[in-house]
Amino acid sequence: MTTFAESKRMPGSEWLKDRPRLLEAVYQGSEAGLRLFYPVLRRVLPAGWTERVFVWSEEVSKGYLFNCQMCGQCILHSTGMTCPMNCPKNLRNGPCGGVRQNGNCEVIPDMPCVWVQAWQRDAQMERYGGEIQLLQRPVNRALQNSSAWLNLLEGVDAQGPPGWSAIELE
Ligand code: SF4
Repeated sequence: MTTFAESKRMPGSEWLKDRPRLLEAVYQGSEAGLRLFYPVLRRVLPAGWTERVFVWSEEVSKGYLFNCQMCGQCILHSTGMTCPMNCPKNLRNGPCGGVRQNGNCEVIPDMPCVWVQAWQRDAQMERYGGEIQLLQRPVNRALQNSSAWLNLLEGVDAQGPPGWSAIELE
């Protein structure tokens, strides 16, 4: 997957992305389900297979729905259920100064700015609405192509990149 793949939108996914309330409910339910089944999968699957299953499932489901770039540190519920890694500049804390007057991206002119969409969708969310105001740590590139679900369950997603000195962000 590439950062610029957002211009190739999957059929139906835009309709779903514009229903952030539905998506945040699914997100919450999925997290609970993953916490329940993760220990079981670890026990029954051969070594290494839990990781493969998680990565594959995430690539297929989130790839279709959110154009997930597999950053390994998912912050969807804090960004209006809109993947910030689809911003060509990979910004995780709001838009750059180049948003066009029509709300589109300065790098890909026919693409709506990810952060304009994130802001509008966050305002519609009941459970996680307002989390877009939280400051995000820099993405840890060492986690690229790993499963964000697995990293969440194992607490790995809370790690910043090497050299990043942890400060209280929230
Ligand atoms: S895991 Fe990273 S790239 Fe994938 S949807 Fe979440 S924030 Fe976007």
